[in-house]
Amino acid sequence: MKTRLKATLLCLLVLGLGSAALSGCATAPYTGRSQLLLISEGEEMSLGLKSYNEVLKKEKVSKDPQINAMVKRVGTRIAAVANKPEYSWEFTVIDNPKTANAFALPGGKVAVYTGILPYTKNEAGLAFVMAHEVAHALARHGGERVSQNLLLQLGQQGLNVAIANKSPEAVQAVNLGYGVASTVGVALPFSRTQEYEADHIGIILMAKAGYDPQEAPAFFERMLQTKQGSPPEFLSTHPADQSRIRQLRSYIPEAMKYYRK
Ligand SMILES: [Zn+2]
Repeated sequence: MKTRLKATLLCLLVLGLGSAALSGCATAPYTGRSQLLLISEGEEMSLGLKSYNEVLKKEKVSKDPQINAMVKRVGTRIAAVANKPEYSWEFTVIDNPKTANAFALPGGKVAVYTGILPYTKNEAGLAFVMAHEVAHALARHGGERVSQNLLLQLGQQGLNVAIANKSPEAVQAVNLGYGVASTVGVALPFSRTQEYEADHIGIILMAKAGYDPQEAPAFFERMLQTKQGSPPEFLSTHPADQSRIRQLRSYIPEAMKYYRK
């Protein structure tokens, strides 16, 4: 409640400064959390597309027909319940068994690294990961971070120019903002608030798409079990611990209301 009030006040304060270019306040889907967003959704989508194309140029796209069919099938079912007609959905498998990661960019561009498949294990596990990433995009979590990072770096004037020109700084900020870590070399974790929100929205989406929400905490248990040694990359951008798993379990009764086998 306290954070929501803070974000709302911040929105009003920024809008009060009177810049016509500011997009200002938004509300996250399902949770109703107030957000400060200084770039428009259209700008975010166009930066997301540029960032996605750059990733695909650098990474090896998988040609495995079975894995591709599975990712497409799960993604299509999640997209069908995401209620986002502005997005042109696309699902890509990146052939990189050493990288346990996945991301979704605004505009509906989703990528899954083959390294995460041993942890997702089954289609419901994969559905949770993809729905969670889609939730970050739907709730514009990267947009919040892009706003903060770019505003600090460039100021409002510079922010408008960087976005309009799709400058490397703006594209990089989107990469960082959405956990596209391996291509930029640095991993910025999502905030705890954003992670819990993406879990909450994601578990509802997976249930609506017909996947058993019980598989969501099971996926995180598998990830945490292998934490000794080198932790999966997913955990560096999406930090997890036992309290996160407990929180995730607390969303299950709500998600079950949407679950259709
Ligand atoms: Zn996340």
